[in-house]
Amino acid sequence: MFNFKEDMHVHSTFSDGAGTLEENIRAAERQGLERLCCVDHVRRKTPWVPEFVKAVQQARQNTGIELLCGVEAKILNEDGDLDAPDDLTGVDYIYAADHRFPLYDKCRSPNRIRQMLADGEVTVERLMQALTNATCGAMIRHERVVVAHLFSILPKVGLSEAQVPMHMLETLAETAAQTGSIIDIDQRWSCPGPRSVEPFVRRGVRVLMSTDSHKPEDIGHYKHNIEVARTLGLIPALEQVA
Ligand SMILES: [Zn+2]
Ligand SMILES: [Zn+2]
Repeated sequence: MFNFKEDMHVHSTFSDGAGTLEENIRAAERQGLERLCCVDHVRRKTPWVPEFVKAVQQARQNTGIELLCGVEAKILNEDGDLDAPDDLTGVDYIYAADHRFPLYDKCRSPNRIRQMLADGEVTVERLMQALTNATCGAMIRHERVVVAHLFSILPKVGLSEAQVPMHMLETLAETAAQTGSIIDIDQRWSCPGPRSVEPFVRRGVRVLMSTDSHKPEDIGHYKHNIEVARTLGLIPALEQVA
């Protein structure tokens, strides 16, 4: 079910990527990819989404690669609100991202969370629950959600995804299955890992391969993702030797 001939999370000059859409598509062609999702960062007031959608539509005419269009928005609070414009016509996927830590009614910087932990204002258990609530909320309240680089925020606050209780992973995977949401495995942040991905795979949730590349030369190059596939026994033994 993992397809290493896709790269489902690639940034362009529409936000903070170094390559234009064209440069990214040419790089994906050189890498022999079959599918590419052009993803750029948005906020609520981002004005260029219609232009971005149109540019991706036009680019489809000049490539044999299946091109998709996504926007990446941070999760704003424990309810799972996303920092995205209301009108996302023509956008295939909304990537819900843990760029800040959602806790109660807002999201906070990693440094603030570290401070709260150090001061005993919040426990590790409460933080894990908050992240689970926020991520499930994003899947429930929005359509076409891809949970981007699940748990990438944890190392930034001094925690690890190995500390996420199994029952929370099961809740996340069950919510993804019930809402038709998707997750991506992110090469750039090397997360989520095999233990976190397994409950999603077990439920048949779609798992995308993403580099989260910000440079054309990184598109389609995987290490972490291949390790996850191997650990979960999803790459046949013969391919492992190669
Ligand atoms: Zn991100
Ligand atoms: Zn990204």
